[in-house]
Amino acid sequence: MKIIDIIKSEKPTLSMEVFPPKTTDNFEVVRIATEKIAAQSPDFMSVTYGAGGGTSRFTADIAGNIQDKYDVPVLAHLTCVSSSKEQIHAQLELLKSKGIENILALRGDMPEGMEKEHLDYHFAAELIREIKEYGGFCIGGACYPESHPESATSFDDMKHLKEKVDAGCEFLTTQMFFDNNLLYNFIYRARNAGINVPVVAGIMPVTNPRSIKRICRISGSALPQRFIRIVDRYGDNPEAMKQAGIAYATEQIIDLYANGVRAVHVYSMNKPDVAQKIMENISAIIK
Ligand code: FAD
Repeated sequence: MKIIDIIKSEKPTLSMEVFPPKTTDNFEVVRIATEKIAAQSPDFMSVTYGAGGGTSRFTADIAGNIQDKYDVPVLAHLTCVSSSKEQIHAQLELLKSKGIENILALRGDMPEGMEKEHLDYHFAAELIREIKEYGGFCIGGACYPESHPESATSFDDMKHLKEKVDAGCEFLTTQMFFDNNLLYNFIYRARNAGINVPVVAGIMPVTNPRSIKRICRISGSALPQRFIRIVDRYGDNPEAMKQAGIAYATEQIIDLYANGVRAVHVYSMNKPDVAQKIMENISAIIK
């Protein structure tokens, strides 16, 4: 099933993101965790992709397994910056062979030391055009309510986002954010820029305070004072931090639905208990 048909339906949607194993050794651990999340029947699941290409096979394997066993539609991520045209074509063939119908087309982070002139792809829009030409996939792209960290200005970022949509991107999934006003402001600016595709709001339930500061530094997501106080107070108490992180994410999600956002994507970090708790907290809201 195509993701665009799911997120355009009347029902508010809730989807979950998982990541594939890095090596064969932990494939089983990841398979089991992702199956536990799939068993809770989110509207769809997305499976990330290693920018270096190391986990390309595992993305397809985990995605295919979820779809085959649990009938949960899957969105496979695909990055292009460190791949050749041949590698991208092979990955499209692999995803197609597994019955995957949806791709989140991404540039990926520029590998250190790579010379730009030797790359087959420089930006996600090029990958989007190529997948569109290949045919058969519903294509999504990434967007950044606080602007992509490499963008000189938010106007530049919006201009390039419009290029992705014009290239064939049917929906956008946001980078995580911890203040919903950032998303409302972003959607307003996007609509003004002529971007009218659905925006899926990415929410990260923070249960590990140590990793969040690093993730925010890389992604450029700001942590509001209200959230920093929670981390300062409960960061050394894993159980309390988990409860507070899930409560904070739940509150964000309810506010988003209440304000007319129709699709929320939870960065589940392969944690079935966190995914389950969030789904329980909003079960009547997404019914
Ligand atoms: P692009 O859309 O190409 O944008 C990258 C930067 O280039 C932006 O600053 C943009 O404004 C600028 N730009 C675009 N076009 C032009 C142009 N023509 N000229 C000049 N500048 C331009 N990474 C992974 O490795 N694996 C994943 O699975 C993964 N999943 C993600 C899922 C989501 C929802 C998000 C938000 C990010 C994800 N990422 C993932 C991270 C992503 O790969 C990085 O943020 C990367 O730096 C940018 O990817 P992009 O597709 O947004 O790039």
